[in-house]
Amino acid sequence: MVVNGRLLLDGGAPLLPHMHRIGIDPGAIDVVFLTHFHGDHTLGLPPFVLHRVFVDRRPLIFVGPAGIADHLEKLWEISWGEDWTRMKRQFKAKYVTAKRSGTVAGIKYESVRLDHGTMGGNGYRLHLDGRLLAYSGDSEPTAPLDELVDGADIAIVEATGPGDVVTHTSWEAAAELKKRHPKTRFFFNHVYAGSVPGAVKDLQVVQV
Ligand SMILES: [Zn+2]
Repeated sequence: MVVNGRLLLDGGAPLLPHMHRIGIDPGAIDVVFLTHFHGDHTLGLPPFVLHRVFVDRRPLIFVGPAGIADHLEKLWEISWGEDWTRMKRQFKAKYVTAKRSGTVAGIKYESVRLDHGTMGGNGYRLHLDGRLLAYSGDSEPTAPLDELVDGADIAIVEATGPGDVVTHTSWEAAAELKKRHPKTRFFFNHVYAGSVPGAVKDLQVVQV
């Protein structure tokens, strides 16, 4: 998810080719909010980082759960081995552990700790142009998810599949969540197959 051309919310594959395809400048991203470190939310990052090492060296901030610097540096080392120690001199990134509320690159945010397997996750409430965007990443449909979307103008929430979707939100639970927050406009992602009402599609661009 890219918001206003400058915020990246998680970094699943194939992030970089998708950005090029819809005309998003990968060099214009100045903050990446990571919800957690599962592969489907982070493995698009290495090619994106390569772009920021070679093509566009503007500074970049990663915001995420505790341990973010270790997790990401490990990922870059797995990706490029010893060569990373030289490449990283050209990579102007800063790692920030998300606070309960804070400001990063001029953007006010709150983070909400969500239930997601043993790892858990951070949901984010981002204050943008006088409106509130809630983003869940992965979450079970428990009380913190309601806390995350409460009062949001827009909510981007996962809705993995029908029935029993271990550690995730099912289509049925997503529909219930939407009903409990009638004033919020919902977009559902992380849909593994088929379609649920309100699901976003790959490469979809939405004007709000
Ligand atoms: Zn996950």
